[in-house]
Amino acid sequence: MRPGLRDERTPHGIHSFDVDRLRSHFDFPARGRIVTNNAASTQPPRELAALLTRLTEGYENVHRGQSVASQRMTALFEESYDIFAQWLNAPSRRTIATYRNTTEAVNAVMYSLLTDFRDGDNVVTTLVEHNSNFVPWWAMCREILPRFGRRVECRVARFDHRSGELDVDHLASLVDHRTKLVCVTGASNFLGTKPPLETIRSIASGSGYVRDDGGSGSLLLVDAAQLVPSSHVDVQRLDVDYLAFSCHKVLAPFGVGVLYAKEALLARSRPFLYGGDMIATGRVSPDRVEYNDLPWKYAAGTPNILGVIVSAHALRLLVDMVGVDRSRCWFGSSAPLPPSIVARTMELVRQHTAELAELALCEAMAVDGLTWYGPGPGLPRSPLLAFNVAGVDPFALAGALGREGVEARAGCHCATLAHRDLGLDPPASCRVSFAAYNTRDDVTRAMDAVRRMSDRLRR
Ligand code: PMP
Repeated sequence: MRPGLRDERTPHGIHSFDVDRLRSHFDFPARGRIVTNNAASTQPPRELAALLTRLTEGYENVHRGQSVASQRMTALFEESYDIFAQWLNAPSRRTIATYRNTTEAVNAVMYSLLTDFRDGDNVVTTLVEHNSNFVPWWAMCREILPRFGRRVECRVARFDHRSGELDVDHLASLVDHRTKLVCVTGASNFLGTKPPLETIRSIASGSGYVRDDGGSGSLLLVDAAQLVPSSHVDVQRLDVDYLAFSCHKVLAPFGVGVLYAKEALLARSRPFLYGGDMIATGRVSPDRVEYNDLPWKYAAGTPNILGVIVSAHALRLLVDMVGVDRSRCWFGSSAPLPPSIVARTMELVRQHTAELAELALCEAMAVDGLTWYGPGPGLPRSPLLAFNVAGVDPFALAGALGREGVEARAGCHCATLAHRDLGLDPPASCRVSFAAYNTRDDVTRAMDAVRRMSDRLRR
């Protein structure tokens, strides 16, 4: 698809969307910013700031008041859980918990499961993880459980240095009948590769681990921080046990992360946080505490009410902006989002951002001395490209790009394991990453700046 292309309707519906029209919802283009750091955080559309202002007119707590304002805020807050569930095709709001971000959601799973690990169990994760899906498991195995006399091993699967693909055979060799949990990213934020979740699901399911509920198989947790923003994720089809993402990477303001978990797990597990609202009304005594119904068992303390509502409505707004169904306005309405509308919206976003990543890679290949990480041209990659240029410090390059108006990022992007495994010293790369509002022009200008700044810095 080309930027500025008007909607093209086929007998089967829209197969592209109007990027210029989508961009008109944002303030950054008018400021000349070339926003290519979207894997870190995306830009918020103007309507969300307006929604926040409107919400403050009826500002009140949820589940904690009988006023009309409190009832209305409670309804909006609860409906937001429905929207998150609809977005992931989860069975109901009972499978959703909200936290501050993906990192906190993964930690919530870790603390919920902590006491269930048996001596001799193991966790399998990978070298392509963001630190937020490795360090909690490492800390649990190395720092927390040993203090309680329990030995649990943290095993780490390799990846192919050339293609950036997870070595699924190696992962399979690490999974055994003592593997309680497999933790894997849905899309790497450095290599751009997407581990095959269906295959990993069947590896985990076939582990032979005997679960507390009498069933067999390992649990599967997916870090979907880079998957949800650029593709349609159906948690029932993937059959994942846990899946987390951050709303600040899907157009929303900072502060909200979503955890999906199978209802039976949430019903059985211990909460991560204890306190108000997560208990059944009136059911607390010195000897006994009963927990609230799902999903509120996992909503201790006053939550980020406005953040949750605005984050959920960011998803509805994305549907309107992509425009797969112009017969109605989803933003601000309370009509349930049909799975087909979500799937079509995200398929268009996936196609568009994949084209941008492919273009970035083609342009990058023409830059002298540039090494890119992850899949080669023509192969699937999530919409980002990390690279280094021989003789050029990635931090100096990102700084020079910034002065040219190109917002790239240098560092290890919290994918420290993979940078180290590739032998990068310092463990750093420069990265450009794309969202639905980026154009081909953004990409060519960004990569032209990479070429010019690399030449200048090499001199
Ligand atoms: N996982 C991946 C793959 C990510 O890209 C990120 C964000 N860079 C995270 C987890 C952590 O997200 P957050 O900082 O919102 O917790």
